[in-house]
Amino acid sequence: MTRSEMVEQLKNEYRRRRAQAEREQDARVAEVESVDPQVHALWQKQARLLSDAVRAMAARTPDAQEKATRMREEGRQILREIRERTVRAGFPEDYMQMRYRCPKCRDKGVVESGFCECFRRELNERMGSAYRALDSFESFREDFVPDVPVEGAQCTQRQALCGARDYLLRYCAKYPDVDKRVLVLYGEAGLGKTFLLNCVVRRLAEQGVDVMNVTAYKMLDAMRNKYLGEDGAEFDRMLSCAFLAVDDLGVEPMMRNITAESLFMLLNERMNARLCTIFATNLTPAQLKERYGERIASRLFDRENGAFLRFVGKDLRAQNG
Ligand SMILES: [Zn+2]
Repeated sequence: MTRSEMVEQLKNEYRRRRAQAEREQDARVAEVESVDPQVHALWQKQARLLSDAVRAMAARTPDAQEKATRMREEGRQILREIRERTVRAGFPEDYMQMRYRCPKCRDKGVVESGFCECFRRELNERMGSAYRALDSFESFREDFVPDVPVEGAQCTQRQALCGARDYLLRYCAKYPDVDKRVLVLYGEAGLGKTFLLNCVVRRLAEQGVDVMNVTAYKMLDAMRNKYLGEDGAEFDRMLSCAFLAVDDLGVEPMMRNITAESLFMLLNERMNARLCTIFATNLTPAQLKERYGERIASRLFDRENGAFLRFVGKDLRAQNG
């Protein structure tokens, strides 16, 4: 579920909660009134007073101000009487008041400046839990990674993978204040690229970022739907979400006039909008260039705006079963 879908869902839930709170209030009022029927008449009197006061103010007669003041005073007296009767009937003084979970926004979820704190907190929790099934930085087990030198590298496989993890952890902590808008995790299968990609998605989701994660296969599907004019919503969302993660770049079929063109457009639009994208691929930079062409390769491997993490060593799945 996307963040905006989640926002809509939560808004609906707030509406339901408010309706529920109102029903419960009605029930409490009825309860008090069943003990002291006089209370009902007082509420009606109070409502009448209020509408009279509003009408008087709207009519702008010379004595409107005075009238309104008198009615306010009368209204206060009625409320006092209602409270007294409530207590006498054996209920707490505020028994008939609305009960809000959040007095700040009165359970509307919005305040003047936008979403209320309570709404944001709940939204982030939900976004986080939507990604809870994903791998997390916390579940990273370095002891599963062989601490043996890698041929042609200056470090062990464990050091290399921990280095990548630390880089991505720092990246998430700094996000959105980051220079690198494109991250490419590349290397052979089974070296932990997808794992770390998922860790990043989950961490950012927990931070409340509008993330989206897809496989390259799904990306191509969305591109094709857009291209064929069927349904462009999914691809549009890929263009506009704050953080996009694309796993397994290079396994999707190469469709003439679609795959490379759309990928180029995706990269271009997201970079122009200063949005971040992370890719994981089993292909080497040279293979990516061969497959997608120079224009795309130069955007994927742009030293100024991008970071490339190479994954090295032996297939971890083979070793740990
Ligand atoms: Zn609130």
